[in-house]
Amino acid sequence: MNPFEYRDNQLYAEQVSCAEIANAYGTPSYVYSKAAIEDRYRAFEDALQDWQARICYSVKANSSLAVLSLLARLGAGFDIVSGGELERVLRAGGDARKVVFSGVAKRADEIRRALLAGIYCFNIESLPELDRIEHIAGEMDIPANVSLRVNPDVDADTHPYISTGQKENKFGLGIDQARELYQRIADSRSLRVTGVDCHIGSQLLDLAPFRSSFEKVFELVDWLEDRGIPLRHVDLGGGLGIPYTRADLAPAPVQYARAIEPFMHGRQLELVVEPGRSIVGHAGLLLCRVEYLKSTDEGNFALVDAGMNDFMRPSLYSAWHEISAVHRESGEQVLYDVAGPVCESADVLGRQRSLCIRPGSLLAVHDAGAYGFTMASNYNSRMRPAEVLVDGDLARLIRKRESIDQLFADEIIPD
Ligand SMILES: *Cc1c(COP(=O)(O)O)cnc(C)c1O
Repeated sequence: MNPFEYRDNQLYAEQVSCAEIANAYGTPSYVYSKAAIEDRYRAFEDALQDWQARICYSVKANSSLAVLSLLARLGAGFDIVSGGELERVLRAGGDARKVVFSGVAKRADEIRRALLAGIYCFNIESLPELDRIEHIAGEMDIPANVSLRVNPDVDADTHPYISTGQKENKFGLGIDQARELYQRIADSRSLRVTGVDCHIGSQLLDLAPFRSSFEKVFELVDWLEDRGIPLRHVDLGGGLGIPYTRADLAPAPVQYARAIEPFMHGRQLELVVEPGRSIVGHAGLLLCRVEYLKSTDEGNFALVDAGMNDFMRPSLYSAWHEISAVHRESGEQVLYDVAGPVCESADVLGRQRSLCIRPGSLLAVHDAGAYGFTMASNYNSRMRPAEVLVDGDLARLIRKRESIDQLFADEIIPD
């Protein structure tokens, strides 16, 4: 489904006009479609229905309490990478028993809190982390469920910053080391083997790297079974891409499931997946307003009120996002670099975009539901955007725009 469509040349989010949202809540603002998030979650649910499967939504993609609460009510589990994300899940009404905890540098206090909350399992990324969790679990007398995140050493063929499954990356354990550690976990009084996991990267548009990693993971599952260490679940991570450009062809959850099928066939294992972007990416856009149109000898800039601090993907990953005028006019189209107010030349949301706009026009940066707000910062002392969730003909503010007071609430000027 496309939750953002034009009617009479005006962009709508479900049944609400984006211009109305901008007038009510200001710009820049993130706008999410509830129906689109539900639709994508259900697409995963349907695709995986042949197995005992759990969808652990990756919280870092979009961690708004309203979004987490919506997913919790649909029955989702959660993949977290910090103690802060755990608190968000709990605050949003998520079930700790459906939480998997990933991340390479879990602190002792985060581990303690997760054990107390009763999370489903820790995804372990190194030997010293395993040592630390075993020690803390022993001290607290709460056995820790653990899964080893293996690094299958496959090229995910995606941007190097979001590629995580090659041996030179900091993530996961080599398969040989994992074999040794499973034996040790099986013998530990404070640890329980629950599964194995992998996550090779993000924004994968091809199923081949997934298949290569599944092969290695399931080989390990068989090897462990042969040695009397049966697993309860296999967690295949996240990473399914979405189309950002018209040329991108992204596999649907059902095609992803078909890639899993040969490996799961005939097994009693539970299946866990950790999709983030593919659930929320398409469900959000960033509304901003044109402040100035500036022409130089080299070309034209549309200078807008959203910058790289609000939406980092174009600057950080050279990511391409469609940008369109909220009110489509029939005048002359001009090529613009759409740039933000931040004092960095990297602060460009999109280059060479053909638009018919004037100062004051509203623009929508599309497919910004994932890794949008969650990566926003206060750089240049800019207040982070508001967030709005649309449900049918209702637009609700789910996060107020940050205020000046909040901007320095925690700062101290020494006497
Ligand atoms: C980021 C991340 C995900 C989600 O990745 P997407 O590309 O958003 O689906 C899943 N698992 C782990 C361990 C991650 O770090």
